[in-house]
Amino acid sequence: MMNIRNRILLFAILVTLLPSLGLGWVYFQQSKQALLKNTANEMKAAVSHVERESLLWLKEQLYEIRVFSSSYLLSDALTEYHRPSDMQDDQAADSSPDPVRAMTTYLALVRSQIQPYKKLLVFDNEGKLIAQDPANEDAATLPEDWLKQLNSRQMIIGEFRATDGRAGNTLLLGVAATSGNDGLLGILGAEVFSQALVDVMQSVLAASEGQGTNAVLSLIADDGRVLLSTAVPGDPTAAEQRNIPALLRNPGQLVTYERNDGVTVVGMLAPVPEYPWAVLMEKRRDALFADIERMRNLSLAVVLGLVTIIGLIAWWLARGIVRPLGELTEAARQVAEDNLDIQIPVRRKDELGFTSKVFNDMVRQLKQSRARLELLSTIDSLTQLSNRKAFMEDFSAALLRYQRHPRPFSLLMIDIDHFKVINDRHGHLAGDAVLRHVASLLQEQTRQVDSVGRYGGEEFLVLLDETDGKSALVVAERIRTSIAGSYVDYQGLGMQVTASIGVAEIAGLDETREQLIDRADKAMYLAKQQGRNRTVMAT
Ligand code: GH3
Ligand code: MG
Ligand code: MG
Repeated sequence: MMNIRNRILLFAILVTLLPSLGLGWVYFQQSKQALLKNTANEMKAAVSHVERESLLWLKEQLYEIRVFSSSYLLSDALTEYHRPSDMQDDQAADSSPDPVRAMTTYLALVRSQIQPYKKLLVFDNEGKLIAQDPANEDAATLPEDWLKQLNSRQMIIGEFRATDGRAGNTLLLGVAATSGNDGLLGILGAEVFSQALVDVMQSVLAASEGQGTNAVLSLIADDGRVLLSTAVPGDPTAAEQRNIPALLRNPGQLVTYERNDGVTVVGMLAPVPEYPWAVLMEKRRDALFADIERMRNLSLAVVLGLVTIIGLIAWWLARGIVRPLGELTEAARQVAEDNLDIQIPVRRKDELGFTSKVFNDMVRQLKQSRARLELLSTIDSLTQLSNRKAFMEDFSAALLRYQRHPRPFSLLMIDIDHFKVINDRHGHLAGDAVLRHVASLLQEQTRQVDSVGRYGGEEFLVLLDETDGKSALVVAERIRTSIAGSYVDYQGLGMQVTASIGVAEIAGLDETREQLIDRADKAMYLAKQQGRNRTVMAT
């Protein structure tokens, strides 16, 4: 069970934490949403820009290659190349140039004079390589579906290939070489440098405000291979296979995913329609959210500080409540254990102070009514003898019995000697112990039919039923000697007391209670006068 102070503490902390964390969370979520929306818009603009630019670039490249493919030099050489061999021999006799050599010369001319392609190639109408420049082993091949591509869009798009050095990648493009009515003679292929395309992507990236240096634009194949990338070569992200299915599920949308290098990124994919490419833009997720995460951490720190301050205040307030409550609880426990002398300090003017005051009043009243009740009751609380009221009732009953059957009875008045000295010397509690001791001796030394009562402070009365004065004197002496011969044990203290006793026998049918008591009292005073610790018979 949690105590009140902890409950107040918990309440204060919850009251601080819940609203601030709740509001903070909403704010954080909204900032995140806004940021994602902004990022999505920027990325959408960037990727569609790159998509347009790449198509434009491709169109320019093809335009130029078409110009070179429509040269008569090329179509003549190809026609010559296709001529049946017997006729070729005739040509050779005509000292016509070798068509392959003619083609190679043409390719070299174009490369050196007009456009510095990485490589120019001529394929025959079945896709077989006939001529190339430069003439090295590293020859690109046409894609398998080249004929299909040619039929559907009058061009062939091959593979991007990595080149050595700083020249960047190349892309193989191909167009048909035809001559008027002869149909397809062959293919002119060109490996074009694609660095221009990377430059375009770089400038788009630079223009895309707020993307910072960690954003990457890539051109990727439809199987996820990276074809071109603005990531510096050597950076693993430049060549990583991308998780195309996840991206393709939501083209044109922001997707959060883990890259193969373990970095979580937000990315957007824009497929280039009708081409086997897609433009991909990615940004590291941690960099994207760095600012608002810093804000979030700052808010958390502020909230924690507040919670500490409010917790301290709550602790202080709770202490002001808990301390008086503790005092009240302790006082209530004391009252329950019958200590009615307790009073709690009233320090405050609030409800708790009022409660303390009321508590004190209640205890005081309880004490008073306890005293009143004791008066009303029949047992003396200290000695457990009959109190004065109860004794006097017994006395009246004895008197009535006597009046019907006049068998004499006697009264003893017993007063402890120098009792004040005991109180003064050893304290009232010691005095109380003496009173209890004497009371128990009186009970011991008398019969069941006799009445023993406490008359006043250290005065006792004993009513001896059907006992004349002579026998009463014997009983009185027995009582006196037993008192004088015993020790009162109080906290290891052995005290010895004596008592003086007055004895009076009922004088006749006319005598009243008061007269009999008066005679016993006088006899007791006589005993005092004669030196105490003695018994005197009343006249
Ligand atoms: P003596 O009778 O021998 O003349 O001397 P005393 O000292 O006994 O006489 P006194 O009657 O003057 O003193 C009685 C004292 O008893 C006074 C009072 O303080 C004390 N007293 C009365 N009732 C109680 C009580 O219940 N407990 C205690 N401890 N003392 C009580
Ligand atoms: Mg007395
Ligand atoms: Mg006395």
